[in-house]
Amino acid sequence: MSEKTDITMEKIVSLSKRRGFIFPGSEIYGGLAGTYDYGPLGSLLKENIKQSWLNKFVHSRTDMYFVDAAILMNPKTWEATGHVDHFSDPMVECEKCNKRFREDQLEDKEICESCGGKLGSVKQFNMMLQTKVGAVEDSASTTYLRPETAQGMFVNYKNIVDTMAPKLPFGMAQIGKAFRNEITPRDFIFRVREFEQMEIEYFVNPAEWEKYFEYWKDEMIEWMGAIGLDMSRVHDVEVGDDDRAHYSSRTIDFEFEYPFGQKELYGLAYRGDYDLTKHADYSKTKLQYTDQTTNETFVPHVIEPSMGMDRTILAVLLSAYREDVVGDEPRVYLDFKPNMAPYKIAVSPLMKNKPELVEAAQRVFGQLKSKFGNVVWDDNGNVGKRYRRQDEIGTPFCVVIDYETLDDQAVTVRDRNTTDQERIAIDDLENYFVEKLS
Ligand code: ATP
Repeated sequence: MSEKTDITMEKIVSLSKRRGFIFPGSEIYGGLAGTYDYGPLGSLLKENIKQSWLNKFVHSRTDMYFVDAAILMNPKTWEATGHVDHFSDPMVECEKCNKRFREDQLEDKEICESCGGKLGSVKQFNMMLQTKVGAVEDSASTTYLRPETAQGMFVNYKNIVDTMAPKLPFGMAQIGKAFRNEITPRDFIFRVREFEQMEIEYFVNPAEWEKYFEYWKDEMIEWMGAIGLDMSRVHDVEVGDDDRAHYSSRTIDFEFEYPFGQKELYGLAYRGDYDLTKHADYSKTKLQYTDQTTNETFVPHVIEPSMGMDRTILAVLLSAYREDVVGDEPRVYLDFKPNMAPYKIAVSPLMKNKPELVEAAQRVFGQLKSKFGNVVWDDNGNVGKRYRRQDEIGTPFCVVIDYETLDDQAVTVRDRNTTDQERIAIDDLENYFVEKLS
């Protein structure tokens, strides 16, 4: 019954807004380019992605240290890493309408795509968002909103070694906001100015980097499958010498086939000892590792799996979007894996103006909610409308309490994908859903 459709961005953007997943940022004031707000459904989806990421990459391991570093960092951090001098994109400005474009993304590099005017010469535009810290506004108070979460981990390397006594190989993991003053934010939540990253810095013995690079590639692929990405649309692409950062001798981009083209979803980079060496140099702090058995002291090398939350959300939505026809009515549903579904089950009384049905339904609702958490009460409109709404937000199951329930202590359970309905005894509901949602 389910068919993969030609998904357009319009369909995803409109569903996201209509159903409370994602809204344009500060919309009542006309928005702010490159920002989006996550609504109730989008926030729950985000939580599910975070939980799945944490379960796989932190909680199920013994070699990973989870941190939550400050977004504002001493500006020397960004001098050390080269961001102040080099974290820029090539920019051109139209001489007629003054609109600015990212030069490397333009097909026609001479003529303005907006007004047909002549484009000026290429300049490097630094993408770090500046801010002032403290009450005195002088150059000393300038710092940046971090453009990546990675550096919050590198500057804490010594703290982790000193407090946790980790054995190599070990990793640090962080989920948090990052900011980039993108020249042309575009494609919904694909390229925004404020976004979230889920990053790992995995420290290894330099002799073993190749083995761990392959290992992390496999781990990332496994996780993408676990969150329901359509793996036929994911491609790993070796980044060539010209495009790779100078300190990296190997980088893979995982690209996803979005409606606007095949573009980066995640990155996996071998960063060598670049970051620790730079920070050691600029901060005059030793950032090393001493092997307790061999007594050898060295700077570990780093493998960095870097995953963007917002691009994950977009890819999860695109992978789950389905259109089909039920009876003769077209419908849209999100085929989320149960672990991604914002709500696992929707519970409703057949009619909301019948107290005996509402009471029985509330008992079932309370029972399921205490067991499964994200269970939603839905008594809006008629049952058909509720099904459509729950389908569109990807709720795997709807439970309806009707007059028969009062006699047989059983309810109707409807499956989102097949739309099949079955009668299940209230006493068996918990076991039924434990199995179905696992
Ligand atoms: P791009 O080439 O698309 O600008 P990038 O190579 O600069 O991306 P990285 O610096 O490798 O990106 O950042 C790691 C991850 O953070 C990316 O794989 C992506 O998932 C996410 N990311 C980076 N920039 C943005 C952005 N402007 N909006 C949303 N997510 C982003």
